[in-house]
Amino acid sequence: MQKRLAMKHESWTAALAALAVLLVAQVSSGQASQPASPPTTLVKADRLLDPRTGNVLAPAAVLIEGDKIKQVGSPSQIGAPAGVKIIDLGKATLLPGLIDSHTHLFLDIIVLPEAELQRHKNAEFGPGLLLAIVESPSKRALMGAQLAREDLESGFTTVRNLGHSGIDGDTELRDAINAGRVPGPRILASGRKIIAQGSYLQNLNPALADAILQQEFLLLDGPDRARQAVRQNVFQNVDVIKVAVGGDISVAELTAVVEEAHRQHLKVAVHAGDEVSIQTAIDAGADSVEHGNDATNEQLKLMRDKGIFLDLTPTFFDGFWTKIHETSVLSPAFRSTLVTGDERRRQRAEALVQRVLKSGVKFAAGSDMGWFYPGKTRGQASAVMFANLQRAGMPSLEIVRAVTTNAAEMLGWQDRIGAVEPGKFADLVAVAGDPIADITELERVAFVMKGGQVIRNDSVSHPAPRP
Ligand SMILES: [Zn+2]
Repeated sequence: MQKRLAMKHESWTAALAALAVLLVAQVSSGQASQPASPPTTLVKADRLLDPRTGNVLAPAAVLIEGDKIKQVGSPSQIGAPAGVKIIDLGKATLLPGLIDSHTHLFLDIIVLPEAELQRHKNAEFGPGLLLAIVESPSKRALMGAQLAREDLESGFTTVRNLGHSGIDGDTELRDAINAGRVPGPRILASGRKIIAQGSYLQNLNPALADAILQQEFLLLDGPDRARQAVRQNVFQNVDVIKVAVGGDISVAELTAVVEEAHRQHLKVAVHAGDEVSIQTAIDAGADSVEHGNDATNEQLKLMRDKGIFLDLTPTFFDGFWTKIHETSVLSPAFRSTLVTGDERRRQRAEALVQRVLKSGVKFAAGSDMGWFYPGKTRGQASAVMFANLQRAGMPSLEIVRAVTTNAAEMLGWQDRIGAVEPGKFADLVAVAGDPIADITELERVAFVMKGGQVIRNDSVSHPAPRP
């Protein structure tokens, strides 16, 4: 035994010595050669829309070096450096990569049949959520990877994932995408959503309830536990803190979350739909109010004065609930309830959008998608929000801003995304027509580039030869 160990030791020493020689050889050869310059790409298109000003540069060229934008101007100003790869998008309109500032990549809930819906609390959401939690985390992670890819293919080059990812689904997916293991957008991950117990799931088996809830949520009960919840998410390396307030969290508790998060340089996104919850978010100094459906004019002004963003979720503005029940057999009475509810939401959305535009509050928009949407990929389903915002009365340029410039500022990433300018990530999309004339162009993104890498380039990649 002694001898075998000694021999083993000798062979290890020899192997290590060989490895050291190899490493030295590699280092010295690396020093001898010039460092390779990053690849350059020149993207040309007839038009480039700047959401900040509404100005259109025509024709336009964007020079990209590595993963960043180096120069933006007319093709004659920029020219084509030697060895550059040229992508000519012809008549297309270029704009910054889109940002979905509120999504749920690890949920794809199929709504229950009508009879089953009567039997549960939070019936459109709770049972599907429960299934997502108790099934295999590996299955859920792979689904998250698929939905992330679908978002990217529809032009969402950055998303903020605000909860419902298990313990570490979104932070791990973010890292896997950044490491090049799977394709997907840049992700700001919130980790587990901080909630008051009972706000999402009730009637659980008492023997399993705590274990189930802990897979998905961090429970807040008093300011001390609120701080602890933030620290637990910090341990998972999150980018943002998400709290859901449904009239069940005090200002003191939410203030503790905000203080601890800000101490850790993280922003706090607060789910708040009703007036009381929105006031709690404002008083506690949240960075953004998610949804904000019932915000009063006074609250919108307070938010404007405090610099709190409103993150609208327009997916639900027009016909959503009727649509996602399309795969079920519905009684005429239930269908009519759905249609009436959707019509009421449409009218309220219209009023909200008008009040938001008048108030001067800063706003962005997120899809809040977490449901299976018949006939659409996740990216296509998320893109429904653009037309919904327009039908609610928002001008096209404001819609584009809400998912580019404004969203970048809300996320705290205005230094890296949200505009096509030197120094920012080369995240670009292109559409065949003019998105200001027809906002549904954004549903048909034909070119997507993320960090200088072409993700898709279909119809506009083969422009008809110019006369
Ligand atoms: Zn949400």
